Order: sequence, then C-alpha cells, then structure tokens
Amino acid sequence: ASVNEYFDIAFKVMLLGDSAVGKTCVLVRFKDGAFLGGNFIATVGIDFRNKVVTVDNMKIKLQMWDTAGQERFRSVTHAYYRDAQGKYATFILLQAWLTEIYEYAQKDVVIMLLGNKSDMAAERVITHEEGEKLAKEYGVPFMETSAKTGVNVELAFQAIARELKHRN
Ligand code: GDP
Ligand code: MG
Repeated sequence: ASVNEYFDIAFKVMLLGDSAVGKTCVLVRFKDGAFLGGNFIATVGIDFRNKVVTVDNMKIKLQMWDTAGQERFRSVTHAYYRDAQGKYATFILLQAWLTEIYEYAQKDVVIMLLGNKSDMAAERVITHEEGEKLAKEYGVPFMETSAKTGVNVELAFQAIARELKHRN
C-alpha cells in the first residue's frame, strides 16, 4: 500500500508486552505477511507501521506502534521473577501491563490480549484456559496467535479495527 492509500478514519494501536514475546514479529506478519525468522532484533525505542483494513466497507487505518517492552518492568522482572520460568514471568507481568493501560489510556481504549507463539505447542507453559481466565478477569477478548505460521494474526487486527469502529 502506498503512503497515500485512502482511508476514512485512523486509529493508533500499541503493542505492549515483555521483550521477546513477539510483538515486532506479529506486526511484521500482519503488515507484510512474512515471518522475521529466528533472529531476535530488539526494537529500539518506538517503531511504527501503518496498514489499512476494511470493516463493513469502511477503510480503517491502523497506525501500529511497536514498543520496546524490556525497559518498563525491568526492575520488577529482576526483583521478583528472576528465577521464574521466562514465559511464565511474561504472563505474570501481563497484569502489570493491563493495570498500566487502565491507568493511563483514555477510558474508551480498546484492549485485546494476545497469546503469541501458539505454534510452539511442545513448549507451551500457559494453557489456553489460563489465558482466557486472565482475559476474562480484565474483561478483554483473548486470542492465541502465531507470527510464525500467521494463525489468527489477521483476525486479531480485524477484530481490533471492528471494535474501534464501533466505539467511535
Ligand atoms: P518483541 O521483543 O516482543 O518485539 O519480540 P520479537 O518479535 O522480536 O520476537 C522475539 C523472538 O521470538 C524472535 O526470535 C522471533 O523469531 C520469535 N517469535 C516471534 N513470534 C513468534 C511466533 O509466533 N512463533 C515462534 N516460534 N517464534 C516467534
Ligand atoms: Mg520488538
């Protein structure tokens, strides 16, 4: 899509979460339909990508901000979760991210919880039920995605765009 691609309305979408959970890969998968591969390239500061999606004939431009998640809760990670299993720690820290969003975002913020790397079935630490339970506690939708296979990535952003359209 060109930089001048037509759109009716634009929204800012932020990907938040711990370092290495796959935020950049999910964005690249959605934007370019490709997987970045095995190399972990840490996002420095904030990067962003735009994509226009169509919901009920309306062109919605998603301005997707990719953040470097490692800074914010580093001290928390080190103090409390140093010995915890890495993937479980990122799950525990989700609650800190959600609390943060509710504290600082505008009231009508649209939130969706993504459990990425669903392709890594053998190494699964968090069950689908645990993910759903946490999402339910915070009253947000939950989807399991894989930036590697692409499963649910398009669907997740479509769902976000649809919800944004309905609330605005
Ligand atoms: P970020 O720090 O949250 O932006 O994480 P990245 O997108 O840079 O991904 C961190 C690492 O996880 C990289 O080595 C990716 O290749 C890998 N990764 C990301 N998403 C997936 C996924 O869905 N499945 C698998 N198997 N690996 C993934
Ligand atoms: Mg990144």
